[in-house]
Amino acid sequence: MKNKVIGGIIGVLGVVFASMGVINLTDSLPKSENKNYRKRSLERPLYITYHHTASKGQSLKQIAKGHLHRGFPEIGYCFAIGWDGIIYQLNDVNEISWHDSGNNTNSIGIVFVGNYHEKELPDAALQAAKRLQDSLSAYLNIVGVRYHRQTSPTACPGKYAIKKIQPLLR
Ligand SMILES: [Zn+2]
Repeated sequence: MKNKVIGGIIGVLGVVFASMGVINLTDSLPKSENKNYRKRSLERPLYITYHHTASKGQSLKQIAKGHLHRGFPEIGYCFAIGWDGIIYQLNDVNEISWHDSGNNTNSIGIVFVGNYHEKELPDAALQAAKRLQDSLSAYLNIVGVRYHRQTSPTACPGKYAIKKIQPLLR
């Protein structure tokens, strides 16, 4: 029964994301052959945590491979947002993917692709984050929105992204 409810929310979100043009990569990025992320109830209070990849020209596939080399079951983030505002879904929202050590169970990781310690976050990426955040908030119990540096000793998601996403935080 519980699985049915979770499947329901994921199914509804799938339709919403498709209507937003979100590109679903959940079955096409490299995965570990013997490890899986644990699952969580989608009724629990959840945070959204913003990151940047701090990368230059690396594809999501290469980033996923890097995470696998570090022992992750799959890529660590739930969503990625390109500089052009294209949104990619990388994991299901009920998967406890590894993006913020100690806080993964209660947070959904959204990563801006690029190094936003070195360059401005484009408006298209900011607007995409707002759309994605609004959709997640409509169907999940989102109780806060923050960036990685607020929970861990890191510069992530970079000073330019931090400056620009202030209106999204809550
Ligand atoms: Zn981060």
